Amino acid sequence: MKAVVCRSPGELVLEDRPAPGTPPSGWALVAVSHVGICGTDYHIFEGKHPFLAYPRIMGHEVSGTVIEAGEGVDLAVGEPVIINPYLACGKCIACRQGKPNCCVRIEVLGVHRDGAMCERILVPAQNLYPANGLSLADAAAVEFLAIGAHAVRRSLAQPGARTLVIGAGPIGLGTALFARIAGLDVKLLDMSAERLGFAASELDFATLDGSKGSATDLAREATDGEGFDVVFDATGNTQSVQSAFAHVAHGGTLVLVSVVKDDIVFSDPEFHKREMTLIGSRNALRADFDHVAASIRDGAVPLAKLVTHRTTLGDTPRDLGRWAHEKSGLIKAVIQVG
Ligand SMILES: [Zn+2]
Ligand SMILES: [Zn+2]
Repeated sequence: MKAVVCRSPGELVLEDRPAPGTPPSGWALVAVSHVGICGTDYHIFEGKHPFLAYPRIMGHEVSGTVIEAGEGVDLAVGEPVIINPYLACGKCIACRQGKPNCCVRIEVLGVHRDGAMCERILVPAQNLYPANGLSLADAAAVEFLAIGAHAVRRSLAQPGARTLVIGAGPIGLGTALFARIAGLDVKLLDMSAERLGFAASELDFATLDGSKGSATDLAREATDGEGFDVVFDATGNTQSVQSAFAHVAHGGTLVLVSVVKDDIVFSDPEFHKREMTLIGSRNALRADFDHVAASIRDGAVPLAKLVTHRTTLGDTPRDLGRWAHEKSGLIKAVIQVG
């Protein structure tokens, strides 16, 4: 089969790889249909991912069709599916508490093990969710949106809550969209006028332009000096996370959607006097995938606007390499495989 392999940082090639064999018990063989390209993939390509072993087949935002089911698998051949790429052990403390999204031994397809930028892939059946009427193109967008939907659910925010999403990239936009679907009163903060312009004109979000003044002042001005009830940080930027503590109202919540590699330093008196709730949010659960899929089916997600770039498996080495540097106008790129 054809596979796009990242042999080493900066070296992305189309290779012939042996197709996976018959699925073992509890697994299914899936013909890959569409694969979304993620910030993680650009990081892997650029060698910025901290623990990645090369060579690696990337691709974790995936839809496909079941072509062979292993023993005990309750999925029909020909079933269109959304792939949940977080392979969990099923035994650790997190798995036992129903949180496979933060499994101690988690293996993410396309990161810790080979992913879906190829024609066929073996996946545990419990990670395959029937697309139930979603197109296979739309089904590949469910995973990246589920990250934001999970963060919104983790926040326990109530309708009407004054909400700030920091970072207007794909994950921030997904968080903002699902915050709005949950009835929150959402504003988006970013440093890029281009991203804010897109969020305002195409998605109708109120925006705060962080390049035009201190984020703390902007957050205060937007909330009569009180701060936001809920703040989501989706920047992956240490400075942004550290300053986000100051944007939270007394009694409010800060949700860290993205991860940074440094230590986070904050003032305990400022944190304590607010009785702030600090929440980490990692990956997503089946309930989030289901919620996102249902929202797309209902027409509540403007996917046609979010998917700005398209390519094929054969053109991926050229296009992904280019888009890693040329981000202008790029929100989400999708590879059509099948
Ligand atoms: Zn992703
Ligand atoms: Zn586990």
